[in-house]
Amino acid sequence: MTDEKYEFFRVVQGYLDEAATMVGVPPHVRAMLAQPKNELIIHFPVRMDDGTMKMFKGYRIQHNNLLGPYKGGLRFHESVSLDDLKALSSMMTWKCALMQIPFGGAKGGVKFDPRKYSEAEMMRITRRFTHALGNNIGPNYDIPAPDMGTNSQTMVWIMDTYMNSVDHSAKNAQRAVVTGKTLTCGGSPGRTKATAQGAIHCLTEWAKDNRFDLEGKTAIIQGFGNVGSHAANILAKLGVSTIATGDHTGYKRSTEGFNGHKLSEHVRRHGSIEGYEGGEDISREEFFATKADIFIPAALENQVGAAEAEALDCSVVIEGANGPLNPSGEKVLAARGIPVIPDVLANSGGVTVSYYEWVQNLRSETWDLEEVDRRLEKAMKTAYRRVNFYAQEKGCSLRIAAYSLALESLKQAYAERGIFP
Ligand code: NAD
Repeated sequence: MTDEKYEFFRVVQGYLDEAATMVGVPPHVRAMLAQPKNELIIHFPVRMDDGTMKMFKGYRIQHNNLLGPYKGGLRFHESVSLDDLKALSSMMTWKCALMQIPFGGAKGGVKFDPRKYSEAEMMRITRRFTHALGNNIGPNYDIPAPDMGTNSQTMVWIMDTYMNSVDHSAKNAQRAVVTGKTLTCGGSPGRTKATAQGAIHCLTEWAKDNRFDLEGKTAIIQGFGNVGSHAANILAKLGVSTIATGDHTGYKRSTEGFNGHKLSEHVRRHGSIEGYEGGEDISREEFFATKADIFIPAALENQVGAAEAEALDCSVVIEGANGPLNPSGEKVLAARGIPVIPDVLANSGGVTVSYYEWVQNLRSETWDLEEVDRRLEKAMKTAYRRVNFYAQEKGCSLRIAAYSLALESLKQAYAERGIFP
């Protein structure tokens, strides 16, 4: 079982403390980074299709903007909480600092189950939330992006609502208020698959270092949404077959491997893997015990506790999701010598291409997919090399190395800038 007393923010604070000690971050900087700068909680009404009004609770947590505007996803999920968003917003600060992207960290969301609402209701919830956020977001201040339960359509609704809140003459300069938009509305080629693509670049670097030939290998993937489905499709191109997967409706296994494109199409139409004809239904326990070479968690946090970590029969874990291991799961994997490529590094391809989208919007440019892919590959491989080198030099985990490199940048910037006034 995963940990029921799990507190995501406390877990992330633990990593921060360990890395801050390693880097020698001064106490006042540590104190500033220990809490978000702003925590915004908004209650707003939305008209439902049947004419009734319903209240919703939305959040935007702005952790830090020392290195650039606040940046981070918006999550629409019934489990959204202040604690989770504080953790996720701080992780965005570490991710952007590690990737040397001129952004800070933020995260937000609305607490509801998007599967229970019509498309028209989703649009009104998104627009009303954007209106309520007002000038707490902006292209040079705080730039949301997709996360669980949100997608390019959600981003376009936000962009359009935000644009309509400014003067006519300034409208078109507002596109960069969100990233992860559709291509027609100012999105970047390669953004949708970017998180999974970045994770797979880390995997290929790890494979090179460990003389691990990916061709013919197998993977299990928890979550088959944006990150999980793209990971399966990119892995297939490298000769890796996905033999088990699962989502909020259950788990499936297929010894010959799933056809990622067909399964993605099924999920697109039906909202989950439920009812897909290929493969056999298995339990969550059977999923984690499936023997495979690679495990990619791509669903929620706190999914791998001690029991799941004991059950896993794989050579490497790549964290597509944020915080998928809880501390007991992490301890067990470390004791078993199973390497973990941590979230802050492994899933930073999403924010990296979001940055490319933002730059394209500000310059009124459109890059082609090859250009985006080339830049992302270089950025991911460089980050992987830096993290790996640091971990070996200091004898720490890849996670603490990733946090430490992020903290090195922040510590330096605070030292140079000082504290106002
Ligand atoms: P998504 O909404 O597209 O997909 C989420 C998947 O998780 C779905 O398949 C859903 O059914 C599954 N899921 C939800 N609850 C579950 C449960 N209790 N058990 C098993 N599966 C469950 O979201 P996504 O964008 O793919 O995000 C997945 C993870 O990746 C999140 O942790 C997110 O923060 C992280 N992430 C996403 C991006 C991005 O660009 N989308 C970037 C960085 C990190």
